[in-house]
Amino acid sequence: MHLKTWLRPAAALLLLLLVACFAAWAADGKPPANRPVDDAWRAALPLDAKVATQAYLDRLSPEAVARSNAYHEGGHWLRLWNWLAGIAVAALLLATKPSTALRDAAQRRLRWRPLADAAYGAFYVAAGWVLTLPLSIYEGFFREHAYGMATQGLGAWFGEQLVSLAVSLVIGALLVALLYAVLRKVGENWWGWATGVALAFMVLGVAVAPVFIEPLFNTYKPVPEGPVKTAVLTMARANGVPVDNVYVFDASRQTTRVSANVSGLFGSAAVRLNDNLLDRSSEAEIRAVMGHEIGHYAMNHIPKSIVMYGVILALGFGLTQWAMRRLLAGRGAAWRLSGPADVASLPLLGAVFSTYLLLATPVFNTISRTQETEADLWGLNLAREPHGEAEVLLKLTEYRKPDPGPVEEFIFYTHPSTRTRIFNAMQWRQQMAQPR
Ligand SMILES: [Zn+2]
Repeated sequence: MHLKTWLRPAAALLLLLLVACFAAWAADGKPPANRPVDDAWRAALPLDAKVATQAYLDRLSPEAVARSNAYHEGGHWLRLWNWLAGIAVAALLLATKPSTALRDAAQRRLRWRPLADAAYGAFYVAAGWVLTLPLSIYEGFFREHAYGMATQGLGAWFGEQLVSLAVSLVIGALLVALLYAVLRKVGENWWGWATGVALAFMVLGVAVAPVFIEPLFNTYKPVPEGPVKTAVLTMARANGVPVDNVYVFDASRQTTRVSANVSGLFGSAAVRLNDNLLDRSSEAEIRAVMGHEIGHYAMNHIPKSIVMYGVILALGFGLTQWAMRRLLAGRGAAWRLSGPADVASLPLLGAVFSTYLLLATPVFNTISRTQETEADLWGLNLAREPHGEAEVLLKLTEYRKPDPGPVEEFIFYTHPSTRTRIFNAMQWRQQMAQPR
């Protein structure tokens, strides 16, 4: 197929994205505030968990709910658009000359095969980045501004995109060189080895990202002096989290979102609170969030999910191997590919594997939701702040649709819905308040 046949549909898509960007640009920014209340309102709430949950949710205005639904549902669609964009890039690379021409040139000039494979890997990352850039700009810049969450100008935002491209180029080149060295050795039955390589990279990535990659975008500092520090570090010490493993980072550089996380592995595992949380939340809310994050840390959620991902990856590579054998038998010659160990079949591997990952979305999300529920309960038991928890959850509706149906929650939600989570907090409040 000739490159020219791709021009017309590509131009049409680009035009569509431009219109979307313009619409986003014209949209109005700031999220509407939730109805404020005081401690007396919270204390007067009925103990009944269902009633109390509804009272919390009723503080969201219809405009706030509509806006939050639109943002979150748009995110579901973007998963699909991103997958489709990836498939289109793979189809373009497979059906036209540049990809195999680059493979041939790299193998001619770079005699050491892993080096040639690394060069192809870098080309693949760069091609995907360039071809999907319009979609990334819409999703990462215009859409975030339309919903009033972005705090960066286009230049600063784009600068960060270039930094993350540089990181992806290095990691992509290394991963591809290693993966194809293994594929050439083991031949047809490569799925188990590919799983091993992917897992090794995942473990390494999770362990070094907080040390080498995240500081490229944000500054991580110890919690500043004050009552919050005392509260947060007391909870950490009581639960076996070393105090120098609690950081605050300047997320407000990029966004207005309130959040926190536990990331890292081995020595780099730590609780990381974002500065929006500290600036926009009461002490009760911060304690609630900290209790949740300590739960992730204390229950070793990261190592546990890596083990579970290993199983999902193994199944995925097994299916990918089966699908690629069939696809290469039928179309391999037309795509000028010699087999699965041919590095120029990487776009095919990427397309098949990304399809599997898309279909596995509910599985990944269920693993995550289960851990989030565990962390919520840990946080309630530790911080004993069901109202603080509920208040933070209301704030998070700025970017999470609060009250989805059960199917939507099962497929798309990495965390339980706001209603479920507030209900759990109110249930805790109700049960713990009962006389024994
Ligand atoms: Zn969490």
